[in-house]
Formats: sequence, C-alpha cells, structure tokens
Amino acid sequence: MNQLRIFVTIIIVLAFISSCDNTQDTVQNESEPEKAEYAIIIHGGAGYTPSDIPEEEKQRLYKILEDAIAIGEEILKSGGSSMDAVEKTIAFMENEPTFNAGKGAVFTHEEKNELDASFMDGESMKAGAVGGVMTIKNPIKAARAVMDKSVHVMLTQRGAEEFAVEQGLEMVEPSYFFTQGNWDNLQNILEEEKKQQGSLLDRFPDSKFGTVGCAALDKDGNLAAGTSTGGMTNKRWNRIGDSPIIGAGTYADNSTCAVSCTGHGEFFIRYAVAHDLSARMKYGNMSLKDAADQIIMEELKAIEGAGGLVAVDKYGNFAFPYNTTSMYRAYAKPGEKKVAIWND
Ligand code: ASP
Repeated sequence: MNQLRIFVTIIIVLAFISSCDNTQDTVQNESEPEKAEYAIIIHGGAGYTPSDIPEEEKQRLYKILEDAIAIGEEILKSGGSSMDAVEKTIAFMENEPTFNAGKGAVFTHEEKNELDASFMDGESMKAGAVGGVMTIKNPIKAARAVMDKSVHVMLTQRGAEEFAVEQGLEMVEPSYFFTQGNWDNLQNILEEEKKQQGSLLDRFPDSKFGTVGCAALDKDGNLAAGTSTGGMTNKRWNRIGDSPIIGAGTYADNSTCAVSCTGHGEFFIRYAVAHDLSARMKYGNMSLKDAADQIIMEELKAIEGAGGLVAVDKYGNFAFPYNTTSMYRAYAKPGEKKVAIWND
C-alpha cells in the first residue's frame, strides 16, 4: 500500500514538473518578439541647429545622412557583418567635412585637431579605441584595428599613430583636418574668452556638436557600434571625451543592444551612459526605448547633461532620444527608413 502511494506521488510530481516546463516553453515562444532581418541607425551629433536654416542646407544635410546610411544598409542587406556596416558608414561620415569627426574635426584651444574614436563588437564583447590622434585619416578604422589586431582596448596620441602606421592605415598631415568654418569658430571663442575670461564649459551652449556614430544589427543577430569625433571646440590639455570610452560613448552586447552617444562628454563619462543603457535592459528588464528615454530625457536632462544617443536592440528596435534641440540621424531596416534632424 505504502509503495503504491510513493509511486503515485512520484508520478504526480513528474507530471507537474513536465507541465511547468511546457508552460515555460510556450510562454517564451509566444513572448519572443520577431527579429528584423537587419537594422542600422546613425547620428551626426546632437546640438542646437536652428530649425529655420535655409531649405537648401536642410536638403544637403538630409542627403548626406541618406548617403551615409545607404552604405551600411547595403552591407547588411547583402549579408555583411554589423561590424563592417558600422566601420564603413562611419568612415564615410569622417570624410565628410560637415561632421565634427575625421576631416571636419573641430579645433582645440591650442589650435590643433585631436580626434577620438571607438568600436565594439557585441558578439565577442571585444572593443578598440583611439584618443587624441592627429594624423590618422579615419580614426574609426584605427579603433577597429586596435580591437582586431592588438591585445589592448585603448591607444592614445603618438602610440596610436605608430600603431596605425604599422597596420597600413592611411595617414595624413595634421593640416588635412583644417576647415575654415571650424577655425573661425575657435577664433571667435578665443576672442570671447579673452573678453569674458570664460572657460570651455561657459562656452559650451554655443558650441556645435557633430560627432558621428552608428549602431547595427546584422542577419546573424550580431550587434556592433562605433563613435568618432573631434571632441569639443576649444577643448584643452589633451582633453578626451566620452566618444572613445567604451561604456561611456559606445557599447555593444548581443544580449541587449548596440549604442553610440553624442553630447557633452563629461556627463556621458560620469554616468557611463552607453553601458548603463545595456545594463538597464539586462538587469532591469527594461525595453530599449524606456531605458534610453529615462537616461537621456529624464536623468541627464535634469542635470543639464546635453546630448543624445542612437541605439538598436537585438530585435532591431531603435531608440534615438536627445535632450538638445536637434540630432542629425537616420535609420533603416526592411520596410522602414527615416532621416531627421529635429522633431521632424
Ligand atoms: N561627445 C563628444 C565629446 O564630448 C562631443 C559630441 O558628441 O558632440 O567629445
């Protein structure tokens, strides 16, 4: 009699365990959102571009963003990797003097151009970055080379340049980065500074942003992100912002999202914004959009940390919050495409 009771109890327990397993399977399958085949999002900096700029200029800016995203989208569409899409798209934007990255990098207080960039692969969690470089034509390529070809994550100044030469990357004279508009901006700020004895931070509200960044999801489900910048006009003492700092300006993790930030770098470093976004998704189970809005539109805004971010999650959902008046951006995935600067 006792044996029968034990036998029946075991059967009931086994039946219960197996029914729990089934429920879990069904729930997981039902709640797993559909993944976009591929997805890509870019930014060309958050800032204060007035919305009444001439129509011709608006169209010129839209066209550049369209051309940039088309490069990455083509790569992803044909089955290329998110890393290639990010690198090639950013390199194109670096060669475009409109943005504060590569050719269009702004001037430092010492009248030089010091460039920063970073790159991260969400599959391997490997990353690379360069800071304060003055002769590498495309810092994003150097950042990826640091990731792929060195045992380090971040190289700076002369050492980073020596490494880039060894890797056969295209090098240029520092004068390659001269643009009249950026030069004039610095001269105006230096003049003002003399009058007001102001500092970089006092000047900040007038400075233009224009950093570039890209986040992408490929057909294999791999996420990657990259960011490139000339930093902030009138930066001094070899200041380095968030853009080349993994976890601050750039982050990618296949289990959450890929993200590239833009804005007042000191805030993005202090609040480890890029990693924080991923962490809120990973540990707080938040959606990409909720987490991104909370960080940029609530928390950073409350402390006047100006800026924004672009991000894509592992399903191909986008987020692009910014607490400034404008953020150059574009995104694309099958059946969806958009280019915008303001709330347009
Ligand atoms: N985050 C960049 C920096 O602080 C600037 C920018 O995004 O415009 O260097």
